[in-house]
Amino acid sequence: MSIQLLAPEIASQIAAGEVVERPASVVKELIENALDAQASFISISVEGAGKRAIEISDDGMGIPAKELALAVERHATSKLQSAEDLFHIATLGFRGEALASIGSVARLTIQSRQMGAELGARLRVDGGIAKPVQPVGVSEGTLVRVEDLFYNVPARLKFLKTDTTERRQIDNLVTRYALAYPKVRFHLRQDGRSGLQTSGNGDRREVLAALYGVDIARQMLEVLAEEDELSVLGFISPTSLTRTNRREITFFVNGRPVQDAALSAALLKAYHTLLMVGRYPMAILFLELDPEAVDVNVHPTKAEVRFREPDRIFTGVQRAVRRALLAHTPIPGLENQIRWSSGAQWGTPARQIDPAWEMATDESRLVDFGSGPTTEETVSPPASTLPVGAVPLLRLVGQVATAYLVAEGPDGLYLVDQHAAHERVLFERFLSQRGGEIPSQSLLQPATVELASASARLLDEQLPVLSRLGFKVEAFGSNTYLVRAIPTLLAGSNPAAALRVLVEDFEEDETPLQAEIEERIIARVCKRAAVKAGQTLSTEEQRALLRDLEACQSPRTCPHGRPTMIHLSVDLLERQFGRRGAR
Ligand code: ADP
Ligand code: MG
Repeated sequence: MSIQLLAPEIASQIAAGEVVERPASVVKELIENALDAQASFISISVEGAGKRAIEISDDGMGIPAKELALAVERHATSKLQSAEDLFHIATLGFRGEALASIGSVARLTIQSRQMGAELGARLRVDGGIAKPVQPVGVSEGTLVRVEDLFYNVPARLKFLKTDTTERRQIDNLVTRYALAYPKVRFHLRQDGRSGLQTSGNGDRREVLAALYGVDIARQMLEVLAEEDELSVLGFISPTSLTRTNRREITFFVNGRPVQDAALSAALLKAYHTLLMVGRYPMAILFLELDPEAVDVNVHPTKAEVRFREPDRIFTGVQRAVRRALLAHTPIPGLENQIRWSSGAQWGTPARQIDPAWEMATDESRLVDFGSGPTTEETVSPPASTLPVGAVPLLRLVGQVATAYLVAEGPDGLYLVDQHAAHERVLFERFLSQRGGEIPSQSLLQPATVELASASARLLDEQLPVLSRLGFKVEAFGSNTYLVRAIPTLLAGSNPAAALRVLVEDFEEDETPLQAEIEERIIARVCKRAAVKAGQTLSTEEQRALLRDLEACQSPRTCPHGRPTMIHLSVDLLERQFGRRGAR
C-alpha cells in the first residue's frame, strides 16, 4: 500500500478516540467547559448510560453567536493564545479538541447565549459535519446535547462496558467534580431519575454525604495543610474505615482529577502500619500549587500530570495525611464510647443520651451536620492530652480476665489488650530486623505440608520472601513442601499450620505489591506468635510487655489496625462517680 494522507473524517475520528473513550469522557469534557465558563449551576442529564443521550446545561458566560461555528473546529479555543501560556494554564480545557472530537463521533447540538447578548444561537454537528448556525431565543448560558455516541464508529461501542458500569462511571465522575467544586450547584439525572444534587453552598462534607452516605461522611477525617506553596485539602478515612482496593482514592491537582501512582503511594505510606495489611483507605484530596509547578499537557485526556518537584509534593501529601491521621486517632477513651457509659456494668447515673452522642465516634470533633441542636452533653469531650502517637510511662496494676493488663498513667487508667499489644511489639521488632538476617530456628524433624495445586503455585512465587523472613521451605514432589526452619519468633508453634495460614493469605489477595505481601506475612506471623487472651502472664512478663509497648512507634494499634489500649481519664472517672458536675 502506498502512503497517503488520511481523509479528514478518519483523522478526526482517530483524534477523537484519544479524548472520547466512553460516555463518561464526554461528561467530563462538558463539565470542564461549563466550569471554565464560570457556571454556578450545572445540570447533567443522561439517557441509556450516555450512549443514547447526554445533555449538559450551564449558566456560565456562554459562547458569542459569531464564534459558535469556530468552537467545534479542532484546535479552536478561547483559553490559550501563545505557546508560552501552556506553562501556566488556569483553565481546565486548553487544547480546543473536545467539542470537535465529540462532534465527530456523535450527533452534537450546542445552543448558547452569551451573557448580555440579546439572542442565542444553535449549531448542529452530525458525524463531523457542521450545519449552519441558527439564531434562537434561549436563556443565558450553554446547553450541549450529545446523541447516539459512537453511532458511526461501531467498533468503539463494542469496547464499552455494561450499562451499569458506564452509568456508575458517570456517577462517580460527577460526584467527584461536585466535591472539587462545592460552590457550584450540580444536578445529575440518569434516565429521568434524579441522582446527585448538591446545594453549591461550599460545604464539602455535605457533598461527601451524597457520595458515601451520612454515616461514612461523618467519620471521614479532614485534611488541611498548607506549606511551601502547596496546599493539601480534603478527606481521608480513619483507620477503622477501609476498603479492599484503591478505587476510593482520588486526587485532584489544581481542580482536575488526576491518576498518579506516586501520589497514591504517598498516601498509603502515611497509613503505614496503621491499616490491616491488604486494606486500603478512602481518600479524596485536593492539591493546589502554582500552575507553573505542574505540567498538565502530558496526557490525552489530561488524566495525568507531571510535577516539577515530585518529591516535594509527595512528601507534602504524606505529611499532611499523617498529621490528620494522628490528630484524629486518640486512644479510644470511655468519653467516646457512649455505649459503655449507658451500660449497666458501670452503674452509670441515668442521663439523657442525645442521639447525636450515640453516633459520636472518636472523630466527634468533626463538624456534626444534620444531627439537630446540640445540648451540653454533646459538646466534644476533651481529646487525649497525650503527645500525638505516643503512650505515657505506665505503672502496672495487674491482669484481669487473663486478657487485659491494667495500668496507671499520668492521667488515669489504661486497659491494655495483651494480645493486640504483643502483636504490635513483635511486628515492630520484626520490621526492624528486616533487611538483615532474621533469626530462624531449624527444626529437628522437617514438617511436611501438602497443598492444593493453586495454593502451591502461589507459595512457589513467595518462597524467596518467606526465606528472607526466616522460613526455610523446600518443594518436595508435586504440591508437597518440607518446612525445615521457621522464624525464631514462632518457635514452639506448629510449623505446618503456620505455613498453611500464610498460604491462605496469599489466596485472599487481589494483586498486592510485593512490599505489602511481605508486611502481610509479617503481620500474620506476629499474630500467631503473640500471647493469646486466656494466657496467664507473670508480673515480670506483664511489666516487660508494657515497657516494650511504650517503646513502639505506633503503640496504639495492633498491626491489623485494632486498638491496643483503652484510656479512662481521671476526669471521666470523676464524672462517672458523680464527683464532678454534681457539685
Ligand atoms: P477547550 O475547552 O480546550 O477550549 P473545547 O472544544 O472543549 O476546547 O471548547 C472550545 C471552546 O468553546 C472553548 O474554548 C470555549 O470558548 C467554548 N465553550 C465550550 N463549551 C462552553 C461552555 N459550556 N460555555 C462557554 N463556552 C464554551
Ligand atoms: Mg473543553
